[in-house]
Amino acid sequence: MTDPIVIDMCVGGRRVPSRSGERFDVVNPATGAVYASVPKGNVEDIDLAVTAARAALEGEWRKTAAPDRARMLGTLARLLEARIPEFAAAETAHNGKTLFDADFDMHGTVGCFDYYAGAATKYVGSTIPGPADYLLYTRREPVGVCGLIVPWNFPLAIAAWKIAPALAAGCTVIVKPASETPVTVLMLADLIEEAGFPPGVFNVVTGPGPVVGNALVEHPGVDKISITGETSTGKAIMRTGAETLKRVTLELGGKSPNLVFADADLAQAVDGSLFLIYANSGQVCDARSRIFVQDAVYDDFVARFVERAQKIKVGDPTEEANHYGAVTSARQLEKIEYYVEIGQKEGATLACGGARVGDGPGLFYAPTAFVDVDNSMQIAQEEIFGPVACIGRFSDYDDGIEKANDTPYGLAATVWTSDLTTGHKAAHDIRAGGVWVNTSEFLFNESPFGGMKASGFGRELSIHGMDAYTELKTVGVSLGAHMPTFELD
Ligand code: NDP
Repeated sequence: MTDPIVIDMCVGGRRVPSRSGERFDVVNPATGAVYASVPKGNVEDIDLAVTAARAALEGEWRKTAAPDRARMLGTLARLLEARIPEFAAAETAHNGKTLFDADFDMHGTVGCFDYYAGAATKYVGSTIPGPADYLLYTRREPVGVCGLIVPWNFPLAIAAWKIAPALAAGCTVIVKPASETPVTVLMLADLIEEAGFPPGVFNVVTGPGPVVGNALVEHPGVDKISITGETSTGKAIMRTGAETLKRVTLELGGKSPNLVFADADLAQAVDGSLFLIYANSGQVCDARSRIFVQDAVYDDFVARFVERAQKIKVGDPTEEANHYGAVTSARQLEKIEYYVEIGQKEGATLACGGARVGDGPGLFYAPTAFVDVDNSMQIAQEEIFGPVACIGRFSDYDDGIEKANDTPYGLAATVWTSDLTTGHKAAHDIRAGGVWVNTSEFLFNESPFGGMKASGFGRELSIHGMDAYTELKTVGVSLGAHMPTFELD
């Protein structure tokens, strides 16, 4: 057994332990072994990080022009690209995802830094066609010090969705990684330094969300919070952040629908639907966890889906043959088991799975499908965040759309149909931040990502991802215009 990695936080360009000296262990969910030891930060550590981030914002970083920020982000992308195997191995070791998935995520992360290296010099203000004797224009200015609160399902990738646009916009950041998966964000600090970012521009503080995350949200020196996490965490952040009028971007939970129309290519719809719920052990905020199949093809779809779900290989994430690896934490596994029990009590039929895989310490859970699920059931309404598909039926177009929309969430949706009119119409009628037609793809760095309803608000990725890290300023210059004033003698 290898010794745990001991890695410190990054504050003001220096590696530091927590002020209290306390640390906590990070566990490999596939083996149960301790993988790393990281500092257990608290309010004091956040205070120091905010001081460093603000000093950097008002110092050298303010004078660093967009082309220079672009160059640094490009360099960062190249540095990460050169170390993908090392970062992928670390992601696997604390998240439990397969090396294949981790490698895929790291390539996407490199792409994200590249995208925002480009965006830094292309995200522009505008001139406004107002009165002829005025020059009116807008500027995009950095929002300031940003607290970036990151989840454990895509530890570095989702961090990059926040870090890259924030740095491109000229902000400084304090990243709070999830306690299950802090290592890759901590590792990134070395590359940030190597890429030439001034000290204090990028800080990482580890520790419990309700302490460290909450301290960021409460801190008057933090201008903006972006969080990906549970809807209840997002609500708490809005409440706490209101006191200091925090700008917030919330990427929260989902219960995304997957609509299979009778005219769909069924083989494609089955294989796409499998991927959309079981990839990454189902720990995906926009996993298509509610599958609705039109009556005429329901039985056929269910038979094929269940047969193929049982072929999915689950286990050691470092074994190439496995399609998905471990659930990230024991807490998460217990949540999955809780909902599988509820589903059976509610009267849904457990068609496959419903149990752990193996009897070792690894947190593996079988691909699970409930069929004949009524959309009002708890398993269809609440986020499970695991490899559990809920399959139900719909009669016609209106019934399908009504069921798709019958959820508090609105993150994403997928539609399978051979009639593109149906596809486009459904894309308009479903209340979700993204709708995809005839594909198991759900994300590109170039297209915006985010939710409606209880899935949050604000968009990440794409050029729109820059909006979250900038303030829009209007400048008006008289070109000899008549100036409004009082009539005085
Ligand atoms: P949380 O929302 O608790 O965690 C997400 C991030 O927020 C973590 O960094 C966490 O820190 C931090 N955090 C927790 N509480 C606070 C707080 N009061 N103030 C500020 N930051 C806080 O999600 P969980 O990890 O508990 O997962 C629970 C469920 O949330 C999952 O089962 C899933 O349903 C959903 N989820 C959704 C995600 C998505 O992609 N939309 C991602 C992750 C989870 P720490 O890790 O230290 O607790």
